[in-house]
Amino acid sequence: MKKIFAANWKLNKSPLEAKKFIQDFLDLAAQTAFFYKDKEVLIFPSAFCLDAVAHVAADTHIEFGPQNIYSERSGAFTGENSGEVAKQMGAKFVLIGHSERRQLFHEVDPGLNAKVKLAQGLQLTPVFCIGETLQQREDGQTESVCFSQLELGLKDVEKTTKLIVAYEPVWAIGTGKVATSQQVTDIHHKLHEKLNYMGYKNVSLLYGGSVKPENATELLKIPHVDGFLVGGAALDPVSFHKICQG
Ligand code: PEP
Repeated sequence: MKKIFAANWKLNKSPLEAKKFIQDFLDLAAQTAFFYKDKEVLIFPSAFCLDAVAHVAADTHIEFGPQNIYSERSGAFTGENSGEVAKQMGAKFVLIGHSERRQLFHEVDPGLNAKVKLAQGLQLTPVFCIGETLQQREDGQTESVCFSQLELGLKDVEKTTKLIVAYEPVWAIGTGKVATSQQVTDIHHKLHEKLNYMGYKNVSLLYGGSVKPENATELLKIPHVDGFLVGGAALDPVSFHKICQG
C-alpha cells in the first residue's frame, strides 16, 4: 500500500502562494528518483485556493481536496462549500472532522457521518479525523473516545470503498508535542483492529500531530502508520518534501 502524505494548510496561503508551493514541491520531487512510486501526496488548501491548486496540480501526481464540505450537495446553505463542486474542480479527497472543525465550529458525530456518506457518494475519498483531548487522555479515555468517533462517524458507511482515517491527538496538533512512538504504536494497533472488526477492508491509517522532518522517519516505521496528516510543517515545500521522503 502506498504511504500517504497529506498537507493541511488550514487558513493559510493565497492562491499565488499555493501555486508557488506546488511548483517548488514538484521541482524538489523531480530530483528524487521514483518519488511517487510508493507515495501519495495530497494537499488540502483553504476553499478560495482550491481553484489555483487544481490548475497547478493538473497532470501531476499531486491530488487535492477541500478541508471541509457541507452535508448537502447544493441548495439554500449560505456560506457553505459544496463537495459536488469540489469534485467538478478535480478534487479526489476531502478532510472531514478535523479537530478544529469539531472544537471551534462545534461539528458533531451525526453531521460528520452525513458528510462522510456524501463524500463517498461523490467518489471523494474522506480523510476522517479522530483523536482525544489532553483531558480525555489523562482520564484514560483515549481508546473509548476514538472508538466512539469511529462508530458514530462511520455509521452505515460503505465498507469496501477507499477510506482514510487520520488519528490526531488534539493535544499534539500545532503544539510541538508529538505523541511518543509507544503511544502511536499502541493506539494505531487498536484502531487497526477496531476498523478491521468494523469490516473496513480498504482503509489507510494516518498519524497527525506536530509531524516534522526530524520525527517523520521514526513515526513512519510504526506498524499501521500508513502516512501523515501534516499542518505547520506542510506550509514549507522543503520541510514537507523531507517528510514525504520518510
Ligand atoms: C493538523 O492540522 O492536522 C496538524 C496535524 O497540524 P500540525 O502538524 O501543525 O500539528
